[in-house]
Amino acid sequence: MRRMNSVETRRMRRRGPACTVAIVGGGASGALLAIQLLRRASDPLKIVFIEPRANLGGGIAYSTPFTRHLLNVVAGQMSALPDQPDHFVRWLRKNTSLGYGPESFVRRSLYGDYLADTLYEHEGLAPRRLATDHYRTRATRLEVSEETVRVWLSDDIGIVADRVVLALGHHSAASRFASNDVPTFSAWSGAALDDLDPALPVLLVGTGLTAVDTALALDELAHRGAIHAVSRHGKWPQVHSVRSRQKASSAVRPEGVSTARGLLRFVRGLVQQGHDGPSIVDLLRANSPSIWANWSLEERSRFLRHLRIYWEVRRHRMPLEVARKIDEMRWNGRLVLHTGRIKKASSVPGGSIAVRIARRGGHDECDLKVSRIIDCSGPESDYRRWSDPLIVQLLQSGLAKVDPLSLGLLTDDLGALIDESGVSSQVLFTIGPARRATLWESTAISEIRRQAASLASHLIGDLLPKPAAHGQQPVATRVQGKELSNAHV
Ligand SMILES: Cc1cc2nc3c(=O)[nH]c(=O)nc-3n(C[C@H](O)[C@H](O)[C@H](O)COP(=O)(O)OP(=O)(O)OC[C@H]3O[C@@H](n4cnc5c(N)ncnc54)[C@H](O)[C@@H]3O)c2cc1C
Repeated sequence: MRRMNSVETRRMRRRGPACTVAIVGGGASGALLAIQLLRRASDPLKIVFIEPRANLGGGIAYSTPFTRHLLNVVAGQMSALPDQPDHFVRWLRKNTSLGYGPESFVRRSLYGDYLADTLYEHEGLAPRRLATDHYRTRATRLEVSEETVRVWLSDDIGIVADRVVLALGHHSAASRFASNDVPTFSAWSGAALDDLDPALPVLLVGTGLTAVDTALALDELAHRGAIHAVSRHGKWPQVHSVRSRQKASSAVRPEGVSTARGLLRFVRGLVQQGHDGPSIVDLLRANSPSIWANWSLEERSRFLRHLRIYWEVRRHRMPLEVARKIDEMRWNGRLVLHTGRIKKASSVPGGSIAVRIARRGGHDECDLKVSRIIDCSGPESDYRRWSDPLIVQLLQSGLAKVDPLSLGLLTDDLGALIDESGVSSQVLFTIGPARRATLWESTAISEIRRQAASLASHLIGDLLPKPAAHGQQPVATRVQGKELSNAHV
């Protein structure tokens, strides 16, 4: 029989045999990590979710109630399990009668259901002594000691964990456009479309996928007033085409891209060979972590200054079905595009907002009166601007550090937080969009599921070093939202 090492002995004395991994944030990233932990662990392991939403796996992207919100990636590429690429398509065939296949763009809320289901299924398959809890509240600060972390929740209850993974996802940007007397609504806040008069015009700031989502939601809510949208470049996202997807699968190795200029040369070469922009972005995305890792800070900054906009426009694409709807709304005058920037916005008597838009490339201006301005400009990647008390505390205490380009948090290859003195944490990790500084592309499911698999392997190897035992009975524990009642302090 194996003898316990000193760390294990101390853990036993302190809190009994189970190791605890606390996952702060129960969106797609948190769910994908938990699934991978459940697949790997055989010894006692407790997974504690801290997530205010009732549904695990949904997060911002997949909790949408709107049926017109579709995945921006075909179903065949959305499996939660890296080793079973058809897992999502099989789930769709079993659980819906809508005839979905690998090339379908599926309703986004279905993907949230799929992640929750897959998590539940893995709980059932996991050995007897695994358990998952869900605390429906926010984490507000962390207290790190030598081997454990105390996670403080919003009502000053503390949970002790051996490892903590931050899966905090996206945070909407504080308004960058309006004056103080104009109320600001983030498209991602639940309240953005509440209490809107359907007959009055609204203004969307941004014309990316978030603006597309908001326009579709307004359409689904039978909004009759004009929907104005403004952005500096005045472009809607590009559309997915089958041709791009097929081209992207051809095996082209990115050579000579050790600088941003080299990348540009490489891309121009591919254009001459007949590849289109989206297919080139897809091809490069598969290699983006290694390209990014090899670039100096200066090259990364050059890329962000000169090439980022071209990258973003081609990387974030919408399904044809969505593009058709947007076109229809534009043709019948319900959706109006303005290329320019908001010069002035002020509240006027009667509750509406007067907006002056300076059109791009001239002295031309346009005045609008709208009932609401909805910020669709996407996530705030500079964590110093986040208002989340947890992030504020982590940065102030030096437990986490923002990267020099303000893309995310500094992490090592596994996702361990790097503190202000440059040391990788043994106990604090992050997954998902926060890892953008290290990986550049770190938001799509294909990227997050890879991170989840490697982080879970590390955590299990670190916490439960014994080889997996076989033949244990399934556990009956159910993942469920529960109010704070049994946290141990
Ligand atoms: C609108 C949209 C559509 C997308 N569509 C696709 C797609 O089609 N295909 C694709 O591959 N990718 C898509 N993505 C990208 C990708 O799937 C998301 O980036 C991914 O869902 C990120 O999940 P997450 O869990 O990291 O973040 P989130 O979904 O933002 O979830 C984070 C969770 O953390 C919780 N949280 C935050 N702070 C705290 C705290 N202090 N305490 C407790 N909980 C906290 C929040 O309540 C939230 O539920 C989309 C993204 C968005 C935003």
